[in-house]
Amino acid sequence: MTDHIATHLTPDELDNWLAGSLARNREAHLHACADCRRLADADRALAHLIGSLPLFSPAEGFGDRVMARVEIRHRARPLAIAAALAAGLLLPMAASVAWSLAYPETLTQLLQGAGSGIGGLGLAAVRSLGTTLLAQPWYPWVHGLFESPARLGLVFGASAAAYAGGVLVLRRLMALPMPRVAHVQG
Ligand SMILES: [Zn+2]
Repeated sequence: MTDHIATHLTPDELDNWLAGSLARNREAHLHACADCRRLADADRALAHLIGSLPLFSPAEGFGDRVMARVEIRHRARPLAIAAALAAGLLLPMAASVAWSLAYPETLTQLLQGAGSGIGGLGLAAVRSLGTTLLAQPWYPWVHGLFESPARLGLVFGASAAAYAGGVLVLRRLMALPMPRVAHVQG
């Protein structure tokens, strides 16, 4: 059992005390306990301060002006998300496809290694996809990008920058308030 005389007042009990509805035995603790009295006095001073603050009444048209700004952001959002997804997801994917094209031998070894575990139709499909990619007319051009170390650095540097940019944009978008707010009517 909790000893109601010995334990300090809870925030709920402080509220009750302010409202004048604190139980008799708890009031006895308040009188006897300097800590609780200090807390209760601070609580009462704060409540008094809040009560004395002027009521905030927004100027005429405040709601409409806020809504107008929220609406603009709401409309811009899908486009910005698409851009962030393109930069954050599609470019690194394109970079990895390009790498696969530039190093078909490595890819083949990887596929053979995976094949011992997977086997069957799935691997055959992946292999035929790889062969199809190698047969594309733009393959030599992509392969050419990877021939000199300087070009290789440039390609991977650009991919990394695009990826970092995409992640940053996505994080910024996630930090924005949800457009749901736009439907709250004042
Ligand atoms: Zn106390």
